Amino acid sequence: MSSAIYPGSFDPLTNGHLSIIHNGLVAFDRITIAVLTNPKKQALFTVNERLEMLQEIFKDEPRIEVESFDGLLVDYARTKNIRVILRGLRAVADFEYELQMANMNRHLDNQLETVFIMAQDAYFYVSSNIVKEAAILGGDVSRLVPPVVATRLRAKLKTASSR
Ligand code: ADP
Repeated sequence: MSSAIYPGSFDPLTNGHLSIIHNGLVAFDRITIAVLTNPKKQALFTVNERLEMLQEIFKDEPRIEVESFDGLLVDYARTKNIRVILRGLRAVADFEYELQMANMNRHLDNQLETVFIMAQDAYFYVSSNIVKEAAILGGDVSRLVPPVVATRLRAKLKTASSR
């Protein structure tokens, strides 16, 4: 059975991520979505909130597993016994960063391979950051994220503004 790890911040998951996962399921039997616990990155949603949303979104998809990890991705991949990392590529801006990461991961473990899937054109310019920025300013992002995420975003921003 072929498996891949799709690591990321997913703060929050967007339809762009979703399209990578759906296309990834054409290539792999199983995908582990791995939320990176990164204390250096300031997040809107806690790791637990992100895991809850992901679990809700993929509750009827037995080929998807949702987990969090910290530390090195290569170590996490080794403990899972998975040799493939899945990443998405958007506009050229992603390319250099992704190339660096893939090379570093290969340097740390040459048995680990990174596979890229191109973003769907509708989501080429969609990122978690741009979605958060628009939502914080009151913009309607409901066509760019799954319904669960849109609802959680609204609730999160309401409690933040009432503080
Ligand atoms: P990270 O902090 O690791 O970049 P992200 O959650 O921002 O985590 O992204 C995880 C992966 O998903 C990255 O490979 C990123 O390029 C990809 N990705 C993010 N948004 C999109 C999108 N709209 N279309 C395709 N891939 C995307």
